[in-house]
Amino acid sequence: MDCIFCKIVDGQLGTELIAENEHAVAFWDIKPLAKTHILVVPRAHTKNIAEITGAEELAGLHSLIREVAAKFTDGQFRLQFNSGELEGQTVFHTHAHVLSGRTV
Ligand code: 5GP
Ligand code: ZN
Repeated sequence: MDCIFCKIVDGQLGTELIAENEHAVAFWDIKPLAKTHILVVPRAHTKNIAEITGAEELAGLHSLIREVAAKFTDGQFRLQFNSGELEGQTVFHTHAHVLSGRTV
């Protein structure tokens, strides 16, 4: 499968990971839409957040979101999971956008 986020998870693109745990990794969005724009990506491939049902995987994802929000924002942030092409999803591997600060 030709999935860009699977490649990032595997380290094939040399993307710097700013945080990681057993279930997920986090890195800066290449085209930031806010002062702070981080992607938090489960290691296992699924298409969108609705496909994830495993409690441990969800807990790992949530834990990493909390970690980057605590480390890279002032505690105020937006969390967005675009799910489906018509809702703005362009990379079809589940990811959370952690956005903080309204301007770039
Ligand atoms: P979506 O539109 O699917 O919700 O979000 C995909 C996000 O991935 C976009 O904000 C886009 O800028 C980001 N992105 C796409 N390709 C890459 C990449 O190769 N590296 C990084 N760091 N971000 C990427
Ligand atoms: Zn993938």
